[in-house]
Amino acid sequence: MRFDTKLVHSGQRPEPGTGDLVPPIHVATTYDRFSQDPPRWFYGRGENPTREALEECLASLEDAPFCTVFSSGQAAAAAALSLLSPGDRLVSSDDVYGGTYSLFAEAERYGIRVEYADLADPAEVRRAVAGADLVWVESPSNPLLKITDLAGVAAQAHDCGAKVVVDNTFAGPALQQPLDLGADVSLHSTTKFVAGHADVLGGALICREEELHHRFAAHRTVAGAAPGGLDCYLVHRGVKTLSLRVARQVENARALAEALVASPMAADVRYPGLESDPGHALAAAQMSGPGSVISFRYRGDPEKLLASTRLFACAVSLGGVRSLIECPALMTHRPVPRPVRLAAGITDDLIRLSAGIEDAADLLEDLHNALEGRR
Ligand SMILES: *Cc1c(COP(=O)(O)O)cnc(C)c1O
Repeated sequence: MRFDTKLVHSGQRPEPGTGDLVPPIHVATTYDRFSQDPPRWFYGRGENPTREALEECLASLEDAPFCTVFSSGQAAAAAALSLLSPGDRLVSSDDVYGGTYSLFAEAERYGIRVEYADLADPAEVRRAVAGADLVWVESPSNPLLKITDLAGVAAQAHDCGAKVVVDNTFAGPALQQPLDLGADVSLHSTTKFVAGHADVLGGALICREEELHHRFAAHRTVAGAAPGGLDCYLVHRGVKTLSLRVARQVENARALAEALVASPMAADVRYPGLESDPGHALAAAQMSGPGSVISFRYRGDPEKLLASTRLFACAVSLGGVRSLIECPALMTHRPVPRPVRLAAGITDDLIRLSAGIEDAADLLEDLHNALEGRR
C-alpha cells in the first residue's frame, strides 16, 4: 500500500463478528482473563485494542514495524529520554519546542548532561555530536523554520555511537520521513498535523528497532502515559484525511507567504517554500512539501495585529484545520529569557502563522486587513 491508502486502511481491518469498518472504541480499563484464549489483554494502562489499531496505522506511515502512542507529545518526548541514564550526554538543536527545553531541564535534575548546538549549521555538527549518547533534532524548527540536514546529522551521530531522535511534528509523516533519512526515532505531537482538528492531545514514537520499542512501551506503562481509547479513536479518525489537509494547508501557506513578501508591513518572511528562504534547497531535498507554518516580522504593533484578524484565531499550536496567529515573544516562547530569545532571532515583532484549510482568498483578505490596521 502507498501512503494515502495506508492513511485509510492501516489498522482498520473489519472487526470479526460484527464487520465494523471502524475499529471499536475500547474503554475498558481491565479485561477478564477467562474470556480470552490465549490471555493477551491485562490492564488498560498497558494494553488497549483501539490504541494498538492507531499504532499499526502510524507505524505503517513511516514504513516502521513499531509505534508507541502517548497521551501527549510531551509524554512521548519523556519516554524517548528514558533511553538515557545518569551521566549520559544529550545534544539538542538549540531552537527546540519550548516544552522540550523544560523537559530537558527536568532531565538535568536526574543527572543527564544537556548541551545545545546549532545543528542546522553543518560546520557545528561534528564538534557538537562528539561524545553524545543521544542527539535530538527538530526540523523544521519553531518559530524560525530552520531546516537541519537530517541525513547528515544522523550519519555523524551514528559514527559517534549516538542514537538520533527527530521531532517530526512541524512536518508530519506526510511531508517528512526521518527514519528513511537515518534517524532511529521519529517523534510526533499527534495533537498537531496527525490528528489535525485541535480536539485531542496525543504523541507517538515510531522506530524500527525492537529494543527501542520495548523501552518506550515499558516506560509508558510504568509512567502511566498511555492515551485512552476515545483519544486514540479521535487521532485515528483525524489521520485519514492527513494528505488532503496538508496539501491544502501547504497551498494556503504558500499564498500567504507570497502575500507577506509583497506586503510593506512584513519583513524577513520565513517559509521553506520560498526560494529566498535559507532552508529552501534542503527542505526541497528532504521534505515532500514545505509545511504550513510561516513566520515574519511585523512593522506595526504585534498586539494590535493579533487582536485584529477575524479568521486567524490568536492561539498557540499548529497543523490544524483552522488558521492560527501568534506572537512567540508574547505566547509560545514567553518563558524563554528575552536575551536568549533575541540571540536566537525571536524578536518581539516576530509573528507566526499556521495555515488551515479555509479558502485562501478569505485568509488573504483577513490577513491584509489586519496587517494594514484596517480594523
Ligand atoms: C506541540 C509540540 C510538542 C508537544 O506536544 P503536546 O502534544 O503539546 O504535548 C513537541 N514538539 C513540537 C515541535 C510541538 O510543536
